[in-house]
Amino acid sequence: MKNFRFTALSQTFDRQVTPVHFPSDKISDYYGSMAFNMKTMREYLTKEAFQSVQMAIKHGTKIDRKVADQVASAIKAWAISKGATHYTHWFHPLTGTTAEKHDAFINPVEGGKAIEEFQGNELIQQEPDASSFPSGGIRNTFEARGYTAWDPTSPAFILEHTLCIPTIFVSYTGESLDYKTPLLKSIDAIDKAATDVCQLFDRKINKVHVTLGWEQEYFLVDSALYAARPDLVLAGRTVFGHSSAKDQQLHDHYFGTIHSRARAFMRDLEIESHKLGIPLKTRHNEVAPSQFECAPVYEEVNVAVDHNQLLMHLLDTVSRKHHFKVLLHEKPYDGINGSGKHNNWSLATNTGANLLSPGKTPIENLRFAAVLVSILKAVHSHEELLRASIASASNDLRLGGNEAPPAIISAFIGAQLTRTLDEIEQLPSHKGLNNANGKSGHISIPKIPEILLDNTDRNRTSPFAFTGNKFEFRAVGSLANAAKPMFVLNTIVAEALTAFYQEVNSLVRKDVKKEDAIFEVIKKFIQESKAVRFEGNSYSEEWKEEAARRGLSNHANTVEAIKAFISEKSIALFEKYNVLNRRELEARYEIKLDKYVRKLQIEARLIGDLSVNHIIPTAIRYQNTLIENAKGLKEVLDSKSYVKLSRNQVQTIKEISEHIAEVKQYVEEMVEERKIANRIENELEKANAYCYKVKPYFEKIREHVDKLEMLVDDQEWPLPKYRELLFIK
Ligand code: ADP
Ligand code: MG
Repeated sequence: MKNFRFTALSQTFDRQVTPVHFPSDKISDYYGSMAFNMKTMREYLTKEAFQSVQMAIKHGTKIDRKVADQVASAIKAWAISKGATHYTHWFHPLTGTTAEKHDAFINPVEGGKAIEEFQGNELIQQEPDASSFPSGGIRNTFEARGYTAWDPTSPAFILEHTLCIPTIFVSYTGESLDYKTPLLKSIDAIDKAATDVCQLFDRKINKVHVTLGWEQEYFLVDSALYAARPDLVLAGRTVFGHSSAKDQQLHDHYFGTIHSRARAFMRDLEIESHKLGIPLKTRHNEVAPSQFECAPVYEEVNVAVDHNQLLMHLLDTVSRKHHFKVLLHEKPYDGINGSGKHNNWSLATNTGANLLSPGKTPIENLRFAAVLVSILKAVHSHEELLRASIASASNDLRLGGNEAPPAIISAFIGAQLTRTLDEIEQLPSHKGLNNANGKSGHISIPKIPEILLDNTDRNRTSPFAFTGNKFEFRAVGSLANAAKPMFVLNTIVAEALTAFYQEVNSLVRKDVKKEDAIFEVIKKFIQESKAVRFEGNSYSEEWKEEAARRGLSNHANTVEAIKAFISEKSIALFEKYNVLNRRELEARYEIKLDKYVRKLQIEARLIGDLSVNHIIPTAIRYQNTLIENAKGLKEVLDSKSYVKLSRNQVQTIKEISEHIAEVKQYVEEMVEERKIANRIENELEKANAYCYKVKPYFEKIREHVDKLEMLVDDQEWPLPKYRELLFIK
């Protein structure tokens, strides 16, 4: 009998550190060498083409056909000089991964020869047969064509000899089928809304863009051990596994010295990222054993999202070279920390200001306060939608778990800002604000400290925390496409900023001085959004009760959470800002339900198969050994000694029998529930059945399997154990 666990373990004992090949001593020598970035564009494009692309990037203008041909030819020349042989439109369909379909540059010509060709139309638009991508019924198969269209705001890049062109993906009838399209639309919406508000303070501000700096958490596991765990391979997480005697109790992994094998991997990852222009900067150990984090310098949100998708791809490909597998699942192991993708989000202006940096002058302070309270107002009005934006079957397992944000969305702003907002709230209304001669301009806005960095980052329990000059959305899952929480956040903040601007204007029309009007609306927003602010421990039971009293939602699972996407309130919001329409939202909702069901279906099958084919036979084998042993004892011992000395064996035999019986019973019941669920036509009812009828068996079965793991001879156990998976040797 071959035990794959031991074969795998023996492989890990022989692992060497895989050497890293550095392209050069200096990062700056190769940084961005595989991206068609501004510098390369300037080098390869004619002046006319360069300007046209810049206009498209900055102002969304159209690139005409002639220029597109020029750009295509320049990109081709550049890509071929870098060894690319193929090109692909690279997009983010709703499957959650990225999609590519490669075409060679080659075009056959007379005489059995070929030339490299790539034209403007191939750059700008493609029509992949996309009938297998989820569309939630938008695109019937007879109308299978969707098309991809070039997004010039995100640089093209070369990956494994293929030129990748970032694109949006839409149906033939114009509905978006990807994550990027609504993101781009939300960027537009928030730009307009924020610029209007900024104009109240500074006429020079005519453009606001969103910045995102993500922090990506992940686990590393040896590739041989990974291969010996069917659950990791098929579900990305362990469905069984008794906790290790030691895991994260000693907190000795967090910020600890990085293991030499992991470090070699990270260096390689950084080299590959830097070549592509992903500005990776930070790496460190996380709290759980074998858990790590990397983070870049922040970028414009669309580019940052593409870079995050690309990084997730690199994590996978680079880790293979180092005999690791990267686990991006939010909760690969039970009982220890899960992984998130903290989205650090802010707004920056064309004048170089960060709208979430408290300013130096009173007017900048007022602007800061206006933006801050608008965000709080947005989060308060749409906390359910924010919760929905981070919902997935895998993130359900993390939220509310060890050191993970709860499913209740609240905002943390720190003690100093809380004091400031409280003071503003207490001040008399605008009439009292002007100084004696009635002139506005002297606004007694309470002082906002210039530097807030120190005291704000400390509440790690908040899902949405102000951290000095940005908000950090921590509830985002490690596996998620960051575009989803970002387009939701952008849109809800756009709405609040619009409201802010309109309310100020309507007061001004009633002859209230502008500064006073601004102040008045700030005050109003503070009051209206107060319920969403929470400074305490978000992990506590008291908060759950308090949040309920405040009317905040607490959706424990995806099925409940994602309903917010199709509420009339949300549909009106997204339609108003032209981000997604009703049909698109309903389609997305359906896709999410379907994905949820499929994920749980896979896990349920996996749990059943592993129980019946791996666990029970192993337990029975060991039980037989014990039975043989007990029989043997009976033969050699007198009956009195036998009763005394075989107690242990008999007891263990009984325990094993009971656990086997429970596992078997629960698996049978689960399979029955699954069959019932599978017959349900309605997607929501089906998802409910999986959530409330099938899923509860996962824990029940696991409990007994994990007990068996502790009872059965270690030599027999087929699956690598937590203590083996979690520690890199
Ligand atoms: P930590 O949260 O681990 O203490 P930092 O707060 O320094 O680390 O940075 C985390 C991330 O926040 C980084 O990716 C950083 O680039 C990003 N960040 C910093 N400033 C901004 C900003 N204005 N907008 C968006 N992201 C930002
Ligand atoms: Mg952070």
